[in-house]
Amino acid sequence: MRDPRYDLLFEPLKIGPVTAKNRFFQVPHCNGMGHAMPLAHAAMREVKAEGGWAVVSTEECEIHPSGDLTPYVEARLWDDRDIPALALMCDKVHAHGALAALELTHNGPTASNLYSREVLIAPSAQPTKYGYPHQARAMTLHDIREYRRWHREAALRGKRAGMDIIYVYAAHDLSLAMHFLQRRRNQRSDDYGGPLENRVRLLREVLQDTKDAVGDRCAVALRFAVEEGLGPGGVELAEAKDIVGMLAELPDLWDVNLAAWYNDSVPSRFAAEGAQEPFIAFVKKTTAKPVVGVGRFTSPDTMVSQLRRGVLDLIGCARPSIADPFLPRKIEQGRVDDIRECIGCNVCVSGDMTISPIRCTQNPSMGEEWRKSWHPEHIAPKRTAARVLVVGGGPAGLEAARALGQRGYDVSLAEARKELGGRVTREARLPGLAEWARVRDWRVGQIHKLANVSVYLDSMLSAQDVLDFGAEHVVLATGCHWRRDGHGRSHGFDIPGFADGARIHTPDDLMDGRIPEGRVVVYDDDGYYHASVAAELLRLRGCEVIHLTPEDSLAPWTLNTLDYRHVRKRMAELGIEALVSHDIVGYDGSTLTVEDVWTHQRRELACDAVVTATARLPDDALYQSLLQREAEWADAGIRTLRCIGDAEAPGLIAHAVYAGHRYARELEEPASGEVPFKRHFHGDNAADPLRKYGNRLQNTD
Ligand code: ADP
Ligand code: SF4
Repeated sequence: MRDPRYDLLFEPLKIGPVTAKNRFFQVPHCNGMGHAMPLAHAAMREVKAEGGWAVVSTEECEIHPSGDLTPYVEARLWDDRDIPALALMCDKVHAHGALAALELTHNGPTASNLYSREVLIAPSAQPTKYGYPHQARAMTLHDIREYRRWHREAALRGKRAGMDIIYVYAAHDLSLAMHFLQRRRNQRSDDYGGPLENRVRLLREVLQDTKDAVGDRCAVALRFAVEEGLGPGGVELAEAKDIVGMLAELPDLWDVNLAAWYNDSVPSRFAAEGAQEPFIAFVKKTTAKPVVGVGRFTSPDTMVSQLRRGVLDLIGCARPSIADPFLPRKIEQGRVDDIRECIGCNVCVSGDMTISPIRCTQNPSMGEEWRKSWHPEHIAPKRTAARVLVVGGGPAGLEAARALGQRGYDVSLAEARKELGGRVTREARLPGLAEWARVRDWRVGQIHKLANVSVYLDSMLSAQDVLDFGAEHVVLATGCHWRRDGHGRSHGFDIPGFADGARIHTPDDLMDGRIPEGRVVVYDDDGYYHASVAAELLRLRGCEVIHLTPEDSLAPWTLNTLDYRHVRKRMAELGIEALVSHDIVGYDGSTLTVEDVWTHQRRELACDAVVTATARLPDDALYQSLLQREAEWADAGIRTLRCIGDAEAPGLIAHAVYAGHRYARELEEPASGEVPFKRHFHGDNAADPLRKYGNRLQNTD
């Protein structure tokens, strides 16, 4: 039964001609599947609808080849042939009583046209956003009329696909409707440039066009960024207030946020739940139309507070809906404890950034709904009465034990330490990473509800212990540790003076409380978050810190998780010196010799200690010794032995959770083929000329 305090979240709301059944709104989010994998995309959106979201949106949807976003894989409505992929999504979403929303966009100078080879267009002639070495030309009045036509036709196609809400997109610095607002992008001297009234003209026209085209049956939403944080060259709050005032009642729905994407989907390391409120709170005071906004909302109390205090009418979620597609349903069913809360790591964002299907640290089924038929809430029951021993209570072991327990297996989880969580527990104590403990907390909470899963803490198992235990299936998730010898991406060999150096520290040392003093060099040969978090910790403990990397920029992989700018800013604010394009040649305990990777010039730095964030080694000694004793398995009753997670190959927490989940899904199930998932094939489609070659699938040799 639902807690009556949350009733407000389940009140229907009229949005133009349609009605949302409750206040949970999955705002548009990228997923790396888009037009290239429409079956996978539709299945992912369907799960959200099944999980209780009143509105389920697409990602950005390109309206014309001159706004081609290649290599990013988004939705596409260039012509009628793109309709079926989105019609499929609409059907799936409607089947669960949800509304489908479509985010139309033409990205002008922030498109690429790498595939279409069209010339880029923009309000004024300008370079492209992503550093491609070509430029966009200024749009003529004819181009503006064409853009309006493309948008109107795409809206009509969206309506034919079955969409209930059509977005006009003016956010994230990613669409022409926004680019015309920005002084730095719009230096026109005609009716579309100069004073605000002129810069807003195109947005107003496109909104009106869309309403005229589809407003009889579809609601028209405006996604609008109220602040870019770039000063007068960008949209600023004061001007945004004027814009909202000018367009107040024109859209049926305001979806408001911050730009660019790194200011909108801020990692939890740099922003808390509800962080956008001070910026967007004015919107509801300016318009009578419903307002949706985001804030990585996972707490129903915070959500209700947003509605009660008149900040929002609808709770917008992208990441929380990825981490738990069933979030609304769980609140409705009074199962708030079961919500799998987003940790704000932005690994989901990295899918889009690396042009691969979305994955999520907390939700291993995200992106696997169609190709592996994984459902976030359901799992096949166990095949036999076999017992399973899970060794190691980090994210891999916890998820394996939880999901095996959900299948009904008799599971024993042994953990060497006095606490569960493995690396997650340890890393969550580092500056800014506290919310990552949710990976542990949700799994421990679920395991406590399962009578068939027993947890043994303070239980360091040896090979003999495992053999004596007598479980049919044994899975080792014993983790990994950081290397001390300097061996990493840049060095295939040890760095002289490192391996036995008393003044060499690893991230494990820091997490164990062994903190150096004085002038410390943090050596980042990893490229993700570990080094900058270590640098921050050391600085907060009073060390003088140099962040050194052989790469040309600090923490380059954090570009994929939208951390990068925040990391750079935080390092600068803390007075942490950056030394890029330098590698370490040697260390004698007080002097570090470094070398410029391009000029090979060497210099010496006084240095009291080095922290090495380079690479990790699997803790697989238990696995190796059990492999050596394979002859004894049968007598011990062991049928299968597996090593998973960081103990198999160190990776992200997301990889460990996935490994644990996959192990549980596949245990005692028939083996899948060489390719362990379904793929979209040319030839699946009757109109595809490749279909006639289907007969060659038969090997006749
Ligand atoms: P992963 O990310 O793969 O889950 P972690 O390093 O987070 O790996 O977790 C591994 C866990 O395994 C740690 O908590 C560690 O204490 C535990 N562990 C390692 N070796 C053993 C062992 N022999 N017996 C029981 N627990 C172990
Ligand atoms: Fe949240 Fe991380 Fe999952 Fe993204 S990947 S939804 S940020 S838990």
